[in-house]
Amino acid sequence: MGHQELHVHLEGALSHEFLLSVHREQNPEFSLENLISLFDYQDFRGFIGVWIAHQKLLFQGGVDWEQRVFLMVQDFFDRLMREDIEYTEAHVSPIDAMWCEYGPQVIENPASYQGLIMAWDKAFNYFNRVRGFRAKYIVDLVLNYPQEILEWQWRNLVEVLPSLSCIAGIGIGGGNTTRQRISFKEVFLDARSRGLMTVCHAGELPPQALAEIEVLEALEIGAQRIGHGIHGIDNPRILEELASKQVVIEISPTSNLFTKSITSLEELPFRLIQEWQIPFCINSDDPTYFHTTLAREKKLVEVFL
Ligand SMILES: [Zn+2]
Repeated sequence: MGHQELHVHLEGALSHEFLLSVHREQNPEFSLENLISLFDYQDFRGFIGVWIAHQKLLFQGGVDWEQRVFLMVQDFFDRLMREDIEYTEAHVSPIDAMWCEYGPQVIENPASYQGLIMAWDKAFNYFNRVRGFRAKYIVDLVLNYPQEILEWQWRNLVEVLPSLSCIAGIGIGGGNTTRQRISFKEVFLDARSRGLMTVCHAGELPPQALAEIEVLEALEIGAQRIGHGIHGIDNPRILEELASKQVVIEISPTSNLFTKSITSLEELPFRLIQEWQIPFCINSDDPTYFHTTLAREKKLVEVFL
């Protein structure tokens, strides 16, 4: 039977070949060694820096977005076949692409945002059909943008929602910001009432006290799955709530090592979540950025399960 993967960012799962071809549009001399050296970060901040640079390359300056998205989804489906992943819900971050192109003027370009979401949907729909998958995507609203941008994204997404066939739900990614997850509460409640899944990155990085606040906020806004959630859960009140609501903890081992969220796999809270019977899944997060595959991630933590 094939694998399932619930926490993977499509933009972080593009093949080396694909990223190389994108770099070479700007710089024909760009080599595989150049590309691999980009993925040599020291921490979460370094990782985000490369992520943003790639968003710019993918979506900035006269690129035909619909065509770009089509080829990205094609490359992503190649990975699903290569890695025998039969079902996935992949994060996509249209607001990051919008921001790279328009900056704060995104708000004046609702048609571009809606067009981009519809391009993701169209491409998923097409490749599901021709390759016999039923993969879905999650629209990441991204924590880092101001409240007005959050509400603007949601308003525009709601308008096109009836025409989308492959959307699984909405998510909160990003990080390294003082913006609070609680400000997503109304949007999350509205999304749930419209039958969308709600997922939220929280408790990815130490310190414990801050991670605990993030996880509590993720629970407060009604997240059905928590991305990472490996810090800040060692508290009976939180564990009980995770267990009673059956909130899924999405664990991505190598990602956590790369971003220095943990220093060894022994720090992952498998004992705790198994003791409390909290559902969890193993994921690759951004496999290209962390030099890994889903099968490798599963193998790495086999000993703890
Ligand atoms: Zn993630």
